[in-house]
Amino acid sequence: MNTDGTDFYSYDDQFRDSIATVDEKGKRIWVYPKKPNGNLHKWRIIVTVVLLGLLFGGPFLTINGKPFLLLNFFERKFVILGQPFWPQDFVLLAIVLITLFVFITLFTVVFGRIWCGWLCPQTLFMEMVFRKIEYWIEGDAPSQRKLDKQPWNANKAFKRISKHTIFIVISLLIAHTVMAYMIGINETYRIATSSPAENLSGFFGLVGFTAIFYGLFARFREQACIAVCPYGRLQGVLLVKDSIVVAYDWIRGEPRGHLKKSAAPEAPKGDCIDCKLCVHVCPTGIDIRNGTQLECVNCTACIDACDDVMIKIGKPKGLIRYASYTSIKEGIQKLFTPRVIGYCFVLLVLVGILSFTIATRSDVKTTVLKVPGTLYQKTTDGFITNLYNIEFVNKTFDDIELDIRVESPSSATLEQTSGKLIKVKAEGIVKNVIFIKIPEKQVVTARTVILLGVYHNNERIETVKVKFIGPVTKSSDVHSRMEDE
Ligand code: SF4
Ligand code: SF4
Repeated sequence: MNTDGTDFYSYDDQFRDSIATVDEKGKRIWVYPKKPNGNLHKWRIIVTVVLLGLLFGGPFLTINGKPFLLLNFFERKFVILGQPFWPQDFVLLAIVLITLFVFITLFTVVFGRIWCGWLCPQTLFMEMVFRKIEYWIEGDAPSQRKLDKQPWNANKAFKRISKHTIFIVISLLIAHTVMAYMIGINETYRIATSSPAENLSGFFGLVGFTAIFYGLFARFREQACIAVCPYGRLQGVLLVKDSIVVAYDWIRGEPRGHLKKSAAPEAPKGDCIDCKLCVHVCPTGIDIRNGTQLECVNCTACIDACDDVMIKIGKPKGLIRYASYTSIKEGIQKLFTPRVIGYCFVLLVLVGILSFTIATRSDVKTTVLKVPGTLYQKTTDGFITNLYNIEFVNKTFDDIELDIRVESPSSATLEQTSGKLIKVKAEGIVKNVIFIKIPEKQVVTARTVILLGVYHNNERIETVKVKFIGPVTKSSDVHSRMEDE
């Protein structure tokens, strides 16, 4: 609340009309954030080491000899936790995506952008890897600014070449890791160790990824979070007044004012001494004292900086802290609001559906479709026959033998163009053609539903429903219409 009684967040919203990293002419303002330090930063280093260890180690992890995670979009093969998934599992994928979306929404409504600050690979690489190398080679923000302005000389050239060489090496490492998640560690190793001419597409893929990561972390930087990341752009609709975000306690901090040794006793001041350290450490160049902003990636650097100032001036820490708008304004942190309870309920239902779908997921996907352009045939011995294309997808890592039988109606029989047992190789697909025939007298409707059972080791693993087309008689037509209704 301002001293004149107006709400702090409506005090002066002009800063929202522009972004801190672009000037009035639309030119990029380069951010030189001061080196962060403090308790939260130390915790972020630990989390980063663990997460990057997992990220770089992931391609080497296997479960029963299969990759821990493989997302091969080129061959449309996916392995998650050692389990193969196929494009045929698109229903499962759709449920996973919806569940993920609701989870992200719920998580953001309650905890704001914790993901961005602590878990997002972009922030981790930018702030905890590339930025640290920059500090190591070029020094803290003032030295970087000075180096940028000074004319080229041996010292500047040495620093710049060293920095960008290390940046390129790390970008190469990230590119190889991403590739390993897509085509597997062995294939990536083969491409990396063979001549580019032997595998041009793989080589250009690696070069392309390296260029993207280098460009992202060396030049594009915070703009990825501000202007590109869809999650960042969604914050405006996901965050609510009860969301816990990195926030400045304006009730405690305002009115801000510089600390003077002989402060006049008549003007009571807030705890903010307007030292602007929270602004100087911000990697997106914003002033968190203006309120929650789209650019804030919740990196916690301003919390650490301000806590340090508070300790020095003998005030309690937490002028900038994880807090919601309502908790600062009303002093109450509401966690389980009706909206959160509603999201929790939807999430529980989705997790239930997802668990059921995974538990009942079949190892084989069978598709039976009528051969295009065919209807039915009458045989001279009094049968009606239909011709079908059948496709078996073996979703497992083992070869499998299948046979297919008619479950109902009992009058239908099945004939295959190949042998009775169908061998499907591990992760393979087999296509076949089958006939189904029914004695003409038994065909009472224009469309008879036939149930086919797919068996492995005499155990039914899947049931497939197919339509059998018969001649349209008057009675069958009525029957068929009733069926449709
Ligand atoms: S670091 Fe703290 S005291 Fe300094 S300007 Fe920011 S909020 Fe105010
Ligand atoms: S405002 Fe604070 S938490 Fe947000 S990006 Fe800047 S330094 Fe990080």
